[in-house]
Amino acid sequence: MAAVVAVTSSVVTLFAQAMHAPGSSQVLPAVMAGVVAGSLILLRQWRKSIQLSRTSAARSQYLLNHDPVTQLPNLNGVVSLLEEQRRRALSLGEDPTYGAIVCVGLTRLQEIYDNLGHDCGDAVLAEIATRLQGVFDEVDRAARVGEDVFAIVVGSLTRAKLAVLSGQLNRLMDMPVATPAGSVIIGSAVGVSFPDASCTDPHEAIRQARLALSAARNARGTIAFFEPEFDQSSKLRLELTRELRAALVDGALRMVYQPQVDERGDLVGVEALMRWTSPVRGEVPPTVFIPIGEASGLGEALGLFALGAAFRDSKRWPGLKVAVNVSPVQLKSTEFVPAVRRLVEHHAVRPSDFELEITEGVLLDADPVVSASLDDLRGLGFSIALDDFGTGYSSLGYLSQFEVDKIKIDRSFVVNLGLRPDATAIIKAITDLAEALGVKVLAEGVENGAQLKILRAEGCKLAQGFYVGEPATAEGIDDAMAAPSASGSLKAAA
Ligand code: C2E
Ligand code: CA
Ligand code: CA
Repeated sequence: MAAVVAVTSSVVTLFAQAMHAPGSSQVLPAVMAGVVAGSLILLRQWRKSIQLSRTSAARSQYLLNHDPVTQLPNLNGVVSLLEEQRRRALSLGEDPTYGAIVCVGLTRLQEIYDNLGHDCGDAVLAEIATRLQGVFDEVDRAARVGEDVFAIVVGSLTRAKLAVLSGQLNRLMDMPVATPAGSVIIGSAVGVSFPDASCTDPHEAIRQARLALSAARNARGTIAFFEPEFDQSSKLRLELTRELRAALVDGALRMVYQPQVDERGDLVGVEALMRWTSPVRGEVPPTVFIPIGEASGLGEALGLFALGAAFRDSKRWPGLKVAVNVSPVQLKSTEFVPAVRRLVEHHAVRPSDFELEITEGVLLDADPVVSASLDDLRGLGFSIALDDFGTGYSSLGYLSQFEVDKIKIDRSFVVNLGLRPDATAIIKAITDLAEALGVKVLAEGVENGAQLKILRAEGCKLAQGFYVGEPATAEGIDDAMAAPSASGSLKAAA
């Protein structure tokens, strides 16, 4: 679309120049013919690009929301279903709780894959999916949410009825399954959650059912209902919050930088990632301490620490784009943009040298502060990358409403490249979509040369991952910049 706008404006400029040029009466017919022909070409290209973006979006949407083996919704799919159910209930003034969620875990699936091979494993999964769909009349109620775990959105049933249903499900899984290698018995356990009104996140609702499933499996039982005690994390959370607060003050946090390369393997950017080495616990992963920090009011401080360090270190690498993760919590604060402005001035950096990574949920958030923050940040010159693309939401409609500069394909789509043909189809669908929308596309989590080769063949030019370079200290990136080949010398430096 941006290209169409750009060509349209040059045609208009040309026309305007011709009108004012001396001897314009001779050149005008030729220019007019050029303008008409140009406009027709543009119109055709525009239609084609709209059509392409619609078909790619529909295809990507299906692939992103369904499990290719069973054709059931995957985790994304069921999360969207629950989101939609909640939105509808809220708009109708009805009870927005998720009802019961049942997770069925297959006992011997891995054994079958290991001993009887892929075809048998896939045949078992397909048969189990058919059986589950036979139990529930509504489409899309059952989803495959893990290797050997299915989740079923049951609605409101009493505990007694759920116990009966769980027993039936286990019996259904105990019936022999025919495979190319003969008949096998899979076995199962069931975990049930009834998320209460405080649970407004579908991921959390499913996590509770999975915790119940683990409890059933650990007890070598077949059914368990979620109990808050299964969640051991509350005490740990409090302790971590206290320690993190201290870490922010005493300098125990630091940033590392992971290389991003272009199609020639040249280093073109780095992603800033936060690290915390706790004196008592050792290395605490950011996936643990950032959400805990944000839930306890430390989100802004953590975010500004990351930006400040990235601004300071970026001076070492002129020409590299430095990407910094920005969380929804930061964007929701009216203090964020003014604080970023102050940091830009303090470090005397150019915002156009930086990319802010946001997740899909941010774009779907109707919060006006979030949209205003994003507009302001773009206005300052920052570019915006959509992180973990494909993991969050099923609707891709937001992509045509909000301008982003880059899509980062989540590593869960990269990991199967070369192993499953559908993995390549997903990458192709996303790169087509990105091309139709005129945005850059980068693949995350590239761990081997085979993946990189497929990605490049499918038109994904930018890459990040352990194969390209592990997260490294600022000095490690200095060394990589100094090395004759920009990538590949970073592995030891993290
Ligand atoms: P992310 O933004 O998706 O960052 C990429 C994560 O994938 C990093 O984990 C990186 O070390 C890891 N990774 C990179 N290449 C590979 C690979 O080839 N294979 C595998 N398996 N993993 C790879 P890390 O550093 O643990 O960060 C995890 C998440 O924590 C980040 O995911 C991001 O969501 C969050 N995070 C990290 N630093 C910050 C920060 O400064 N601010 C905010 N808001 N979030 C951060
Ligand atoms: Ca990121
Ligand atoms: Ca990511």
